[in-house]
Amino acid sequence: MGLPVVAIVGRPNVGKSTIFNRLVGERIAIVEDTPGVTRDRLYSKSEWLNRYFHIIDTGGIEFGDVDAILTQMRYQAELAIDEADVIIMMTDSRTGVTDADLELARMLNRTGKPIVLGVNKVDNFEMRNEIYDFYQLGVGEPFPISGAHGLGLGDLLDEVIRHFPAQDEEADRDDVIRVSIIGRPNVGKSSLTNAILGEERVIVSEIAGTTRDAIDTPFERDGQEYVLVDTAGMRKKGKVYESTEKYSVMRALKAIEESDVVLVVINGEEGIIEQDKKIAGYAHEAGRAVIIVVNKWDAVEKDDKTMQRFTELIREEFKYLSYAPILFVSAKSKQRVHTILPKVNQVAEAHTMRVPTATLNDLVTDATIMTPPPSDRGKRLKINYTTQVAVKPPTFVLFVNDPELMHFSYERYIENKIREAFVFEGTPIRILTRKKT
Ligand code: GDP
Ligand code: GDP
Repeated sequence: MGLPVVAIVGRPNVGKSTIFNRLVGERIAIVEDTPGVTRDRLYSKSEWLNRYFHIIDTGGIEFGDVDAILTQMRYQAELAIDEADVIIMMTDSRTGVTDADLELARMLNRTGKPIVLGVNKVDNFEMRNEIYDFYQLGVGEPFPISGAHGLGLGDLLDEVIRHFPAQDEEADRDDVIRVSIIGRPNVGKSSLTNAILGEERVIVSEIAGTTRDAIDTPFERDGQEYVLVDTAGMRKKGKVYESTEKYSVMRALKAIEESDVVLVVINGEEGIIEQDKKIAGYAHEAGRAVIIVVNKWDAVEKDDKTMQRFTELIREEFKYLSYAPILFVSAKSKQRVHTILPKVNQVAEAHTMRVPTATLNDLVTDATIMTPPPSDRGKRLKINYTTQVAVKPPTFVLFVNDPELMHFSYERYIENKIREAFVFEGTPIRILTRKKT
């Protein structure tokens, strides 16, 4: 289940971030402009030879006030070991093998995880002879690369994907709904997980992900199968790195990537803070179905307006999630926990819904009659044809005479018309404009 995870570890300044950015490349296309959402680029999805994987730059995760290089590296190594299927150990040809490299290699070697050794900053062909020294690390063949010039990465990646577990055919089964529960620490994710699972029959208690410790939990209710994505990361607590904000963001990103429906959990007792908005923004950007779950509702002092006021606050703070339903629950008292899965089913259905092309074209034609498309210097936008090209999330393409004439506000208008006509509750919708060919 889930994609293989590759972690990059190494001393500071060997070029981990440079390599990470190369591997991630232009692939992170932020499809919609979401104000206030900036992506922490230390965890991302990448692809090589049609194999998709997650990649972590452990160097981007700082461990509080720990400043000794070796201690930092030990935590990075620990994180990589816990999270990754394959570890890229990065070194620097310009400094040669250092004591810290030797120490790190020893730590990594004890784990039994596959390690691929990169020797970075080999910027030209003549320097290739300088890599032989790195055999002494005892982690296998050194691969010469240049992050700065993008050299040698192909060979390195060939070696990385050779170590991936065999592709899991089950992972793509469409009838299973993959759900993740995300939110900052202490909002009640583990408690909610247990409250949801508590009332369900767990088919298989725990299936190990691949070779790593990540665990997805499959279960069934009323004939529908679900997988709760990576709940183990929430259950096994207490590692040093788990308390860092970047780690919790990384966790959230990973869970989001692997799910169909994301439950964004907010602490009703504390209200909404910046980190909540960031995490919710990732779910939106990733195009997943979203439900906002306000937990700890038992602990909130309420009158008859409290829920309405909180709803208004959420709508104000999470403007881009206007499509997301909101549930007020308590994992502790179990209040309304039983409404979560039925809502998951609804939004999952919306997330995969297809609108027939004929219906869509009638709708768009009516919409353009009611509010004519924008024009510029006498030239008016004409929408010739509309079709749905994808689900998860539903994605519509408008074929037009001149895409330059399209305005964001008119796209919004079309989106709203589509939402009025069909129940797309809980899912983002994407509208693309293309020149009619
Ligand atoms: P990190 O601390 O391991 O993440 O290292 P960075 O990616 O921040 O890189 C550290 C320094 O090495 C930066 O100044 C980079 O520009 C430089 N660097 C990274 N890759 C290469 C490379 O392939 N060749 C050369 N000459 N410099 C590089
Ligand atoms: P996580 O870090 O998001 O997984 O949060 P936990 O599930 O570990 O919960 C953090 C704390 O909040 C624990 O002390 C829980 O007992 C408490 N908690 C969780 N859900 C509720 C709830 O619905 N009501 C109240 N009053 N406390 C809760």
